[in-house]
Amino acid sequence: MEKKRFDVAVIGAGPGGYVAAIKLAQNGRSVALIEKNFLGGTCLNVGCIPTKTLLANAQIMHKVKRAGEYGIVTGPVTFDFAKMKQRKDAVVEKLRKSLGTLLQANKITIVQGEAAFTSPHELKVVGKESGWIEFEQAIVATGSQPLDIPAFACDHKKILNSTSILELTALPKKLAIIGGGYIGCEFASLYAEFGVKVTILEALPTILSLQGKSLAEALTSSFTKQGIEIQTGVLVQGIEETSSGVSIRLKDRSPVEADLALVAVGRAIASKGLGLEKAGVQTSDKGAVIVNDKMRTTVPHIYAIGDVTGQFLLAHVASHQGIVAASAILGLRAQMHYNAVPAVIFTEPEIATVGLSTEQAVAAGYSVTVGRFPFAALGKSIATLDTDGFAEILSDQKTGQILGAQVIGHEASTLIAEMALAIQNELTLECLIETIHAHPTLSESWLEAALIANGTPIHFPPKRK
Ligand SMILES: Cc1cc2nc3c(=O)[nH]c(=O)nc-3n(C[C@H](O)[C@H](O)[C@H](O)COP(=O)(O)OP(=O)(O)OC[C@H]3O[C@@H](n4cnc5c(N)ncnc54)[C@H](O)[C@@H]3O)c2cc1C
Repeated sequence: MEKKRFDVAVIGAGPGGYVAAIKLAQNGRSVALIEKNFLGGTCLNVGCIPTKTLLANAQIMHKVKRAGEYGIVTGPVTFDFAKMKQRKDAVVEKLRKSLGTLLQANKITIVQGEAAFTSPHELKVVGKESGWIEFEQAIVATGSQPLDIPAFACDHKKILNSTSILELTALPKKLAIIGGGYIGCEFASLYAEFGVKVTILEALPTILSLQGKSLAEALTSSFTKQGIEIQTGVLVQGIEETSSGVSIRLKDRSPVEADLALVAVGRAIASKGLGLEKAGVQTSDKGAVIVNDKMRTTVPHIYAIGDVTGQFLLAHVASHQGIVAASAILGLRAQMHYNAVPAVIFTEPEIATVGLSTEQAVAAGYSVTVGRFPFAALGKSIATLDTDGFAEILSDQKTGQILGAQVIGHEASTLIAEMALAIQNELTLECLIETIHAHPTLSESWLEAALIANGTPIHFPPKRK
């Protein structure tokens, strides 16, 4: 490819970049979507989709193990992990192909190669299709990658990261996970379900420290019941390979021995080597591209979206930012708000949050009312034997406006959508109470939590006066 000219160049075909590219192309812009690896980015290839495909197997396993409680008699249960990995690969492949077709149908030019700015209006691409691209506007959507710590660098054989662990075709007997954030916890849940002895090593005082105390405590208790060992407040000093596996050296504690180690200590922002300085685009100390609420960088015709902006690091946030950036380029009204971002952790049990936590609401000066309804009191949960966990609503005491919600339990990932809609549209407890919820469903837990927050519980004992 020699020099080509496009209205917009989008660098990175993850859920941020490809969504922005579609919106732009549908509105008549010529778009080059440059990707150095696979269409779909981290999310489709080594993130959301492969992990949730594997976790779907774990969910089935979880139910099968409990079959007796439902009066279903099974024989000995076995499984084929290699086949599960194959299915995961097939799902990714299928979605990647469909995405290619979708992008072609939208007349987007896909350029296979690695792009870097040479000036504020030009990119150099090196790869399958090398050359130069001139553009009017550009969107940087280069995402993030697993953070590598030099003290325990991954060899991808015994010391793995979230990408290389997806290639396993057989289970270890013992897995040590360094990092108790959501990625570490999801892998812990997956492997523990298939009988692997999992140990989580977390430097902070709790796992899931970003999700707040009550959810961290609830998951810790559930994980402990499932046999997952959690060591918090530990400093990993190094990982040595041994003849049988790995030995994880800890400060002031005995080493942890395992067959494999998974390093899940965070994500590194992928802004290095992009030549951002040649375009005049500024980044933070951590390498995040600095953007305003229209996703515009410090150079007005260059935008950045998704993980590379260092905010939330979630696929749906990247896609929404992509729509906002594309709208700004198209001269349409759009602005990013982060007050109603749902976040889901696909552990057993699932966890989902949206809006403010109690700590954040109090820090923001609100007097809050909390309504928590346990699934153990809900007809549908009792019928399906999914009684662990609770749904909780946080509202402003003065106005009744719903500020935040969190849920831990069966189908939390689906349940959270109702609260995202409520918070985004500034609904109050009253709006929720006046909404008829189908019976018997898990969504009734929101109605009941709202009634409790309102001081008018129906299926829950009233507060003693
Ligand atoms: C194990 C795991 C599980 C996850 N699970 C979830 C989940 O359940 N839900 C959720 O919302 N999020 C999840 N995430 C996070 C989610 O994957 C990311 O937030 C999302 O992919 C970010 O999208 P993006 O478009 O910003 O970047 P990415 O998806 O990272 O895509 C960036 C793309 O840019 C390409 N690129 C980079 N540099 C260049 C260059 N110079 N030239 C050309 N191409 C380039 C990369 O190859 C990549 O394809 C998970 C992540 C991991 C690692």
